[in-house]
Amino acid sequence: MNGIVVVGTGQAGFQLAASLRENGHAGPVTLVGEEPGLPYGRPPLSKAYMLGKTDAAGLALRPEAYFAEHGLTVRGAERVAAIDRAARRLHLASGEALAYDHLVLATGSRNRPLPVPGADLPGLHQLRTLAEADALKAALAEARSVAVVGAGFIGLEFAAVCAQKGIPVTVIEGLDRPLARSVSPAMAALIEASHVGAGTRFLFGSAVSGLVGPDRVRAVALADGREVAADLVLVGIGVLPNDELAKAAGLRVENGIAVDAVLATEDPAISAIGDCASFPSPHAEGARVRIESVQNAVDGARCVAARLAGRPAAFTAVPWFWSDQGPLKLQIAGLCQPHDLAVRRGDPESGGVQRGVSVFCYRGGRLAGVESLNRPADHMIARRLLQSGRSPTPEQAADPGFDLKSLAL
Ligand code: FAD
Repeated sequence: MNGIVVVGTGQAGFQLAASLRENGHAGPVTLVGEEPGLPYGRPPLSKAYMLGKTDAAGLALRPEAYFAEHGLTVRGAERVAAIDRAARRLHLASGEALAYDHLVLATGSRNRPLPVPGADLPGLHQLRTLAEADALKAALAEARSVAVVGAGFIGLEFAAVCAQKGIPVTVIEGLDRPLARSVSPAMAALIEASHVGAGTRFLFGSAVSGLVGPDRVRAVALADGREVAADLVLVGIGVLPNDELAKAAGLRVENGIAVDAVLATEDPAISAIGDCASFPSPHAEGARVRIESVQNAVDGARCVAARLAGRPAAFTAVPWFWSDQGPLKLQIAGLCQPHDLAVRRGDPESGGVQRGVSVFCYRGGRLAGVESLNRPADHMIARRLLQSGRSPTPEQAADPGFDLKSLAL
């Protein structure tokens, strides 16, 4: 028996192994991952870890003893170079071969590179791994001014860290608002105002044309001729799914490794989970989605582990996500994009965003998702509403006197 082999020791790969054991699966389980060490969580890298509020040990998903106690083999610093589907065997970059009965691809995603001159200058950083976080944290300790390219989640979380540390930070974004692809315009406006209030400068509609050296980065050059002085630049312009291994093995790739409703590829011996996989979601009316979140990695892993333990079921968990940005806790339940109607619950004018605001997003007359800012109770209710398929009317959602909880029960 060759057992179950998982490629990737990230959030999804770890959870798959843990959930197999929780489901009573007793056979061999091996995780192979390119990063050194044991599985760790990435979310604190741009938040508590960057602020020095937790250390590397605090990132560990489980202590070392857990893996031995549960008979889980973790092989770090090992890259899988190829999949031989006919022989059900992996080829590692080291030259070794590793046979499997079932293969789970949990290869995650990688940062999208910034394709401009000077992108290889010292002083330019990206943030995905612990090693990158360590390099960024060390650079931040010396930085006098920071530029962030991309007003996405990672960029905004890092900008909030800079603001908290009192380091001047400019966020450069090609579109006209932060989180343009992820949240409603109403929510984006609230988030932007809070960052501006903390001292962050935004340059919207600005394309980066290059990084100015010569020896190390001194400024970010914009296409309109302006330059933004900075001795540290973080590029956070999204990620690309690590689907090349699957593609080279002849598996279908469609914005990530294409899997079906139970997260299986067209090869019955191969599944895919987490950031690297795209799947048909009931929360997107059956459309194929690829989701980059801890929840998606964890719930997808649980779904596959249950199937491999003999209890197959479609992946229907409600997607949810959080992002901590200084005083802001943004939580999103469901898939809000695209939406055709957005209504606000809570009044940011009375007491500011600290008092909490939610935006209820509707698609085709039904609740599609809820964005909550410092309003965790709304988020929990939204998850229950979406799971049960109950949809408050927009009038009910906007009415602070309407008891949403009663609808969610
Ligand atoms: P990953 O965690 O990326 O793990 C994939 C692993 O596979 C990697 O270690 C990679 O090296 C390895 N691998 C890839 N190819 C190979 C190969 N050929 N051979 C061997 N190994 C390979 N999500 C939230 O919900 N909330 C947050 O607040 C949040 N904050 C984040 C902050 C940061 C800085 C980052 C980077 C991400 C954050 N996320 C957050 C996203 C979340 O961490 C990811 O969605 C999650 O880690 C995805 O898990 P995964 O296992 O699919 O992929």
